Amino acid sequence: MSGNAARIQAISQIINRDLMPPKAPERLEEIWAENVFNLSKMQASLPKAVFKSIKKTIVTGEKLDPSVADAVATAMRDWAMSKGALYYAHVFYPMTNLTAEKHDGFISVQGDGSVISEFSGKVLVQGEPDGSSFPNGGIRDTFEARGYTAWDVTSPAYIMETDNGSTLCIPTVFVSWTGEALDKKVPLLRSISAMDKAARKVLKLLGNEEVAHVNSSCGAEQEYFLVDANFASQRPDLLLAGRTLFGKPPAKGQEFDDHYFGAIPERVQVFMQDVEETLYKLGIPAKTRHNEVAPGQFEIAPFFEAANVASDHQQLLMTILKHTAKKHGFVCLLHEKPFAGINGSGKHVNWSVGNSTQGNLLDPGDSPHENAQFLVFCGAVIRGVHKYGPLMRAAIATASNDHRLGANEAPPAIMSVYLGTQLEEVFEQIKTGSVSDSKHKGVMDLGIDVVPPLSKDAGDRNRTSPFAFTGNRFEFRAVGSNQSVSGPLIVLNTMLADSLDWIGNRLESELAEGADLSTAILTVLKEVMEEHSAVVFGGNGYSEEWHKMAVDERGLANLPTTADALPVLKEEYIEDLFEKTGVLTPVELESRFEVYAEQYILSIEVEAKLVVSMAKTVIYPAAVEYLSKLSSTMASLAGLGVSFEKDTAQKVADLTTSMMTTASKLEEAMKSHGFASTEEHMQHCAFALRPLMDEVRSYADALEGEVADSFWPLPTYQEMLFIK
Ligand code: ADP
Ligand code: MG
Repeated sequence: MSGNAARIQAISQIINRDLMPPKAPERLEEIWAENVFNLSKMQASLPKAVFKSIKKTIVTGEKLDPSVADAVATAMRDWAMSKGALYYAHVFYPMTNLTAEKHDGFISVQGDGSVISEFSGKVLVQGEPDGSSFPNGGIRDTFEARGYTAWDVTSPAYIMETDNGSTLCIPTVFVSWTGEALDKKVPLLRSISAMDKAARKVLKLLGNEEVAHVNSSCGAEQEYFLVDANFASQRPDLLLAGRTLFGKPPAKGQEFDDHYFGAIPERVQVFMQDVEETLYKLGIPAKTRHNEVAPGQFEIAPFFEAANVASDHQQLLMTILKHTAKKHGFVCLLHEKPFAGINGSGKHVNWSVGNSTQGNLLDPGDSPHENAQFLVFCGAVIRGVHKYGPLMRAAIATASNDHRLGANEAPPAIMSVYLGTQLEEVFEQIKTGSVSDSKHKGVMDLGIDVVPPLSKDAGDRNRTSPFAFTGNRFEFRAVGSNQSVSGPLIVLNTMLADSLDWIGNRLESELAEGADLSTAILTVLKEVMEEHSAVVFGGNGYSEEWHKMAVDERGLANLPTTADALPVLKEEYIEDLFEKTGVLTPVELESRFEVYAEQYILSIEVEAKLVVSMAKTVIYPAAVEYLSKLSSTMASLAGLGVSFEKDTAQKVADLTTSMMTTASKLEEAMKSHGFASTEEHMQHCAFALRPLMDEVRSYADALEGEVADSFWPLPTYQEMLFIK
């Protein structure tokens, strides 16, 4: 089909599409967690002693007693098979942000042709996928392909239902035969232990007698776009790169803000209901759903859970969004910036730390003691963001998130902390030491005002901050929609561990010198603020002034691209941080730099190839066809002696020429090789390829505004965003 014939066909198919009928809503309490082998199912099926032992491991993270594995495996298999599962899979989370699975049958064929059902404790606890196809950043030479998966007892096994049958999925860690972490789960678990250890020490110093295991929590808000599959299939860029590499913004964009919280189209509603039902069955507490700022954009936010489980659930949620979209004739785009000029998608990672004895440690609470505790933990976070802001930036650095950070719609690439007016004042008082003059002296042992009840009103929130305090947690708002939340959580927990450790040591020495607890806390927090208050910022993070002030006056790092941010992982102070907290060895850290850098390079190079090929084989032919139509019309008009404007033909010819010349330059630039280092290769992608890609696009998008619509082959922004 030439010209816009395919587009027209797609539109008519969409308009005449039969909606998938909405399912009769099932009762939530009946389907809740029905596909999860959770504690209550274990309790029902395991001998008492076995259950007690495994529960202890799940709740406290204590080592698994290997002798219980067989009993658990049998119960798990029986439960899974009773639900129709014939296969089991060790699920793991390689460094690529994806989810990987190794599937095996419960039943294995014997030499004599009979079958036996085989799923022992040994099989449950450890698997051996062929790991050679997963990037390892040089940890394993390819000839040593062995990588092991090991059961993560703290994240429940579940059943994944697909059209091809049901599979028992077992969340696992993925390590090399020499014990190095090859995934995102191992360092996440280690970061939680490091934070737990440091937090408990501080809590003890603060006078708490009973101090339970401290865990970190995460609630992630996921934004996404839905585009009809009929359109997406005609866009090679959407299919291969997950975003449009060409496309002129529509006459009507998000200027009217009428999409935000607007009515959800019926077809999308049916899709969302289907997603939620699947999530509920998997025990994933999906909570909100509404339209986002951009047309065609939506959000889903599960209720917060323990960070490790939340992270597994987040991966599952992304998979389910994509699968379910397919069923409903949509493509779900998780890319951070699928459409230029239209708001991108993020994933707000809400994060806090707490335990069963002291509760949420980032909640101000209403007694002076809770307040002091809160200020200590909050101070630790401030110190962490100041010391390790560049690492936070590196943790969210991907080729796709670069399109969002730094544009005036998403938090900037400069890391700062937003505390809100009231809390900022409290910390300012601590810093200047003016607390002793405080009118409310004596209200709190510390001598400072009790932290007033903080406003949790959304209106008070600073939407331009990458990292904001929101009443009882921090919200890391610069995380990309496509990312695993593990990376950011690892960084947050690790920097907090480091800060708490430092604070603990300082408190200890103050107390040893005879200071009372309140004075010691105040002294240490004052030091924290004197050293680190530059990172606290309550103003407009999008503004030019902030970008200048942050760098020139406050000494904060502005790392606009991944090529600028990833090399932070190679800095000595980062290596020290991970090594001393035991979260990553230098080899593991180095391998992460290599894997992330390689992904960045690959993704830009794939896009660059696609830009050249689409310019040459899709857009150029359309422009030429239109030109030839124009010129034959002009020739016949000239034959009739009719004078006719030539500007359009000239413009189309000029833009086409410029587009093709730039595409050739890009093609040439892609031939560069022999880079001295990975860093140099990344720089080439960021500062040579990307600008040329943008330039090719600018000519093509201008052409879209000149060439007759009936000649234009690619589904337009208008169609993709507004037709559902
Ligand atoms: P908003 O869009 O206003 O930022 P939402 O209600 O959409 O807020 O999402 C807030 C997220 O924060 C939810 O996932 C919620 O469960 C989570 N959350 C709430 N309290 C905590 C906490 N203490 N720790 C971590 N996450 C939390
Ligand atoms: Mg939010």
